[in-house]
Amino acid sequence: MNTPLTIKETQDGLKQKKFSAVELVDAYLAQIKKYNKEYNIFLTVTEDLAYAKAKELDKIGKFDEPLSGVTIAYKDIFLTKDIRTTAGSKILESYVPVYSATSVKKIENAGAIPIGKLNCDAFAHGSSGENSDFGATLNPWDKDYIPGGSSSGSGAVLSANMSLISTGTDTCGSIRLPANYNYLVSLKPTYGAVSRYGVIAMASSLDTVGPLARTIEDVETIFNVIKGEDGFDGTVVNKKGDESKKSKFKIGIPREFFIEGLDSEIEKNIQEVINVYKKENVEFVDVSLPSTKYGISVYYIIQPAEVSSNLGRFDGIRYGNDRDFLGEEAKRRIMLGSYVLSAGFYDSYYDKAMRVRSKIISEVDQVFMKDEVDALIAPVAPTPPFKLGEKINDPLSMYLTDVYAATANLCGIPSLALPSGFTKNNLPLGFQLMGPRFSEHQLFELGKLYHKEIDYKPKTAF
Ligand code: GLN
Repeated sequence: MNTPLTIKETQDGLKQKKFSAVELVDAYLAQIKKYNKEYNIFLTVTEDLAYAKAKELDKIGKFDEPLSGVTIAYKDIFLTKDIRTTAGSKILESYVPVYSATSVKKIENAGAIPIGKLNCDAFAHGSSGENSDFGATLNPWDKDYIPGGSSSGSGAVLSANMSLISTGTDTCGSIRLPANYNYLVSLKPTYGAVSRYGVIAMASSLDTVGPLARTIEDVETIFNVIKGEDGFDGTVVNKKGDESKKSKFKIGIPREFFIEGLDSEIEKNIQEVINVYKKENVEFVDVSLPSTKYGISVYYIIQPAEVSSNLGRFDGIRYGNDRDFLGEEAKRRIMLGSYVLSAGFYDSYYDKAMRVRSKIISEVDQVFMKDEVDALIAPVAPTPPFKLGEKINDPLSMYLTDVYAATANLCGIPSLALPSGFTKNNLPLGFQLMGPRFSEHQLFELGKLYHKEIDYKPKTAF
């Protein structure tokens, strides 16, 4: 187990000339060369680009931008100008975008070194990484296990120490699950905090873009770089949340989240987290969100409905290969989505799901307002990482992996997922803190309180 560098340590080292940006790239590329074949993390390594940027930075000798000298790897769903972007699907195997996503541009304008594009479930459909048309990614903590999905490479790349930071997309857990299964910190931001321009759309009312890193400070730095309006995504607003320094926090424990079906090691671990917080004078209250139990059903109606529309553009004419290349999961979702939207079934499925979604939103908003809680604590997933192949032939049990993720996406609220230990089999454990819309700052503060108290140190598998 290694202690990898943080953004600050990297930049301090560069400024003090302990190492150069080129040497950093050498080190990450050495890790990629050693392990990528086996773990299937990168779909494209941008070695030349990384060296060109590193040389340029070394030549200038200044590392003053927020991400100067920081290597970044992107989920292969972010468009990158002149670099192949596949969304994990063979249909886009040879697609080369003519422009970059806003978040990519912002990260690179902030001085980051792009090192490559990461494997993911095709079109971000999945929770395990096994739906990629380029083969499953393995979990560096134990290669018999899945690394979480759909941003599978975005999690594994950091626990394999092949990059300093990464980005992913979260429509229902796809940033938080891989972070949770790889001992990482991640943020699913408020819907409308970060532009999705140039990100291949999955389900547009749920999709969010966010960072994965090894510390809360690093996730915060990246979030501050990528957030805000760009004029290309009409859902984005420049809203500042409460940035005051609170002396006392209150966290709600939704009773519906701690029920049968939750793995006992996860439950015990979250109880320990709560005890740590109590030592820090954080108050806990029992809260109830009765309609969240329908969250996963609602998600698996609204999401395929939106997927069936968004995937309509992959008609085999404008984008690369033939329609036959859409995988089983994409086909399943297009059929489900078309069905729930079809005349005769619209009212009983889509419309009903939309009404239940509104109910969930109002219950969650009420809890933040009436119970005056700063955050809700919850598991990220019902179990620790599971074995490769364990759920692949059982879509329903795979979909249940997302049961704790759905609330944040349906409500558009932010969620910070944090590492909090290991199972007895040495697999990562974590939890999530969800807050009101645009409360990212308070979630970071709350997260730091916990990590400070346990003297948290980032760790990589090798
Ligand atoms: N796991 C969920 C799904 O399969 C969510 C994926 C995501 O967040 N992109 O739909």
